[in-house]
Amino acid sequence: MLKFTPLLLAILYALAMYRISACRTARELDAKSTELADPRLKTLTDRMAEALDLKRIRVNIYEIEPVNGLAAPDGRIFITRGFYQKYRSGEVSAEEMASVIAHELGHVALGHARKRMIDFSGQNAVRTALIMVLSRLIPGLGVVIANALTSLLAARLSRDDEYEADAYAAALLAKSGIGIAPQKSLFRKLEGLTGSRGAMPAWLMSHPKTEERVAALERLEARWGTAPV
Ligand SMILES: [Zn+2]
Repeated sequence: MLKFTPLLLAILYALAMYRISACRTARELDAKSTELADPRLKTLTDRMAEALDLKRIRVNIYEIEPVNGLAAPDGRIFITRGFYQKYRSGEVSAEEMASVIAHELGHVALGHARKRMIDFSGQNAVRTALIMVLSRLIPGLGVVIANALTSLLAARLSRDDEYEADAYAAALLAKSGIGIAPQKSLFRKLEGLTGSRGAMPAWLMSHPKTEERVAALERLEARWGTAPV
């Protein structure tokens, strides 16, 4: 029993951290967000809602500058004020904004938002538990191995989530008649737009490389066998 105590403590710690981070995130988002009301974007989100058999898709504006979209663990979708301004200034088209919303919807539908929060708050706990176990088995190197394993696992998990959310968005955009082209053109713009990501919480920063994401979409298009609208 004593042998498992560190592991149990680590799990309890992870659960507590998850509750605390989820509450904190929800409170932060509540305090700094309002519902998006943009007629052109609403036309597009209504088309996606119809494709999903939903009454409507609610999108919120999160009042921070860095360009990003996010899905909260409670299932709400946010576009940052900075991103919305890029749309207002014409740098990003309405269809491209719709592709971000579709991507975030994918994270919600596939349960990623909640999972990522757990991953992130659990990561330190897992690391601690691994260090405890591994340093007993391999003194000295145990810590290094534990750190490497935890980071690898975390990166792997979030990368897969991004590709899955991209594929979900591609299917939804195709079904809504918006097409996959805006999704691809936005990926190319994103690199230039997200220069200042320093203020974003670390658990949101995990998007894979642009060219790899575009290539993954092109493989989907090829498999679906139809040119996107
Ligand atoms: Zn994402």
